[in-house]
Amino acid sequence: MNANSQTSAEPAPTGADFRDLTLDEVEQMVAGAGERSYRARQILHWVHARGAESFDEMRDLPAALRNYLKQNFTIGHPVSSFVSRSSDGARKLLIRLDDGEAIESVIIPTEKRVTLCMSSQVGCAMACEFCATAHMGLHRNLTTSEMLVQIPAARRELAGGEELTNFVFMGMGEPLANYPRLVRTLTIMTSDWGMGISPRRITVSTVGLVPMMERLLGETPVNLAVSIHATTNELRDRLAPINQRYPLEVLLDACRKLPIKRRSRITFEYVMLAGVNDSLADARRLVKLLAPLRAKVNLIFYNPLAGSPLRGSSRAAVEAFQAILNNGNLTATIRESRGLDIAAACGQLYAEQHNPA
Ligand code: SAH
Repeated sequence: MNANSQTSAEPAPTGADFRDLTLDEVEQMVAGAGERSYRARQILHWVHARGAESFDEMRDLPAALRNYLKQNFTIGHPVSSFVSRSSDGARKLLIRLDDGEAIESVIIPTEKRVTLCMSSQVGCAMACEFCATAHMGLHRNLTTSEMLVQIPAARRELAGGEELTNFVFMGMGEPLANYPRLVRTLTIMTSDWGMGISPRRITVSTVGLVPMMERLLGETPVNLAVSIHATTNELRDRLAPINQRYPLEVLLDACRKLPIKRRSRITFEYVMLAGVNDSLADARRLVKLLAPLRAKVNLIFYNPLAGSPLRGSSRAAVEAFQAILNNGNLTATIRESRGLDIAAACGQLYAEQHNPA
């Protein structure tokens, strides 16, 4: 893995790691090695569909090509250093990276789905008050390979018959602050030569980096979730400081203009904090703000952070809030807190492993 790739702003391939490369790039490389271009799809199929972790496994390649690949490339592979299992079926992986950093991914099974919550950065620069990852600050961006490797890492932890069905970038980091590598990741996830995952099954969650939201939906057909959390600029400035740069009216105006596919809606995430953002007046303001949009709301139980004075709203408060949204013709679902016993909230496992109490 090339360390430069982690700091440059360009999406250029990192060179050595096959999991970073797109079909075009592999075709060029294969041509450069004097081989026929169909070999590119063959190799990528081994990496992304068949889970090969070494070139020796690619038995249908000519030996000369295999040797060439071995000498010039690696295949990023997952090293999960820690897996914790919740009594509710959620599994949280701490994945160790080559430079000693670590990221978290969470497998969340529900009745109909098995969702993988993926990280996009080590740490985060967005400084949201209630988020454990925010307290780490930003260590660095993940490479495309490091983002993708969460998928085979999670697949290893699945029970027989279980299959990942949905993918959400709601783990550590702000995905749109790592934009070029995120788009490359999404391309590899959704291409027939890559993982072949339907973009309808992928959701990118953002705290509201407005220009990047517009680009994302212009360039990829994935779903968008926006973490809103507050209905006044005064409160949002505090909970999600990026609001000082892209205040609510700018964020919502951009959302109104986004090229959302027919029949699809933007999800707004709202962490319910007792006495902070959970009043009935907040609910009514949220209805007004979101009325002009094709929106749905996901009300999230707060996963408490050690040392924080913030408290989660009671179930009664969350349900009363939901009722107002529903009465205002806004679909609102309540996201049950999963994996509470395994510190599954964003950044919590990392924090526990690095600052044991
Ligand atoms: N940076 C992106 C994606 C990562 S956070 C974003 O802000 O959307 C994914 C979701 O987890 C966000 O909605 C965030 O508000 C929520 N979250 C973070 N910390 C939480 C906590 N302690 N309890 C509940 N939800 C939390």
